[in-house]
Amino acid sequence: MFLSIVVPCYNEEAGLREFHYQMTAAARALCGQRFELILVDDGSTDDTWKLINQLCAEDRSVVAVRLSRNHGHQLALTAGLSTVRGDLVLVIDADLQDPPDLLTPMYEMMARESADVVYGLRRSRAGETRFKKKSAEAFYRLLARITRVEIPVDTGDFRLMSRRISDQLVRMPEHDRFIRGMVAWLGYKQVAYEYDRNPRYAGTTKYPLAKMIGFAADALISFSMVPLRIATYVGALLTTGLTFVGIGAVISWILSGTVPGWTSLTLLVVMISSVQLLVLGLIGEYIGRLYIQSKNRPLFVISHIHRRGRLPHHAAD
Ligand code: UDP
Ligand code: MG
Repeated sequence: MFLSIVVPCYNEEAGLREFHYQMTAAARALCGQRFELILVDDGSTDDTWKLINQLCAEDRSVVAVRLSRNHGHQLALTAGLSTVRGDLVLVIDADLQDPPDLLTPMYEMMARESADVVYGLRRSRAGETRFKKKSAEAFYRLLARITRVEIPVDTGDFRLMSRRISDQLVRMPEHDRFIRGMVAWLGYKQVAYEYDRNPRYAGTTKYPLAKMIGFAADALISFSMVPLRIATYVGALLTTGLTFVGIGAVISWILSGTVPGWTSLTLLVVMISSVQLLVLGLIGEYIGRLYIQSKNRPLFVISHIHRRGRLPHHAAD
């Protein structure tokens, strides 16, 4: 068995050396020298790339990959997956929130259950704001309600998977990626490994609110048509309601000659036009994604790959 560990890194210079230390110790415990640690620099603006190169010079198991600019977490991950050479792939964050020493118990679970995927299920999340925990909790439950794909709640991208799963992931051409959902979509046998998430070892989160909202929108839109259907339901409801309002207005005109009410008229115009704009925006979200996808641009651009290790089938134990 040869293990490939894929780690997206964006401005992680503060904690990366410690991560490398803990991750290689965990990997060595499981598979001796038969692993590679793929550190993907997602266009960092600090010294992350320099540090990755240093680690690569010191340690033959490190593969240094650099993207041409910041492409975002999910694409950096995909870029890393496109370079793996192992039979088994571990995806893990660089900030030590996902503990590297869970590698062995996760591997044992995979072997015991003959599963293709062992995903980390967050029992608790230390060191994160109440807002992040609550919003994530609500988001995963909303997503589970509106999609047919069985996406497990409270999981991240921390998972151990077989090579056939990671190859399939790389082959999926979608731009707006929600990888934890795409893995669930693939099927095969997937089991949960419950763990407690640590606080960040160093540095700050690279997911500010705006990115979190964009990520949530990608997930909801990629995995569900329900938002579009809601527009249909609201439309049907309004049409029914407004038909009665219309009939009432005609009756009132026949009986009293005029229709009173500037206020009601204004209310109606404002209500209907805002619902229309909202629905238009919603349709726009889907069309915008269609447009981006139709350009068929590559998902990411890799500018550098440095590898010093031998090929997996030559690697000695
Ligand atoms: N990351 C990345 N590109 C980005 C944002 C984040 O490669 O544009 C990496 C980051 O370095 C980390 C992982 O993705 O290894 C998860 O990011 P972070 O820990 O900031 O997210 P959080 O755990 O706060 O949700
Ligand atoms: Mg993190």
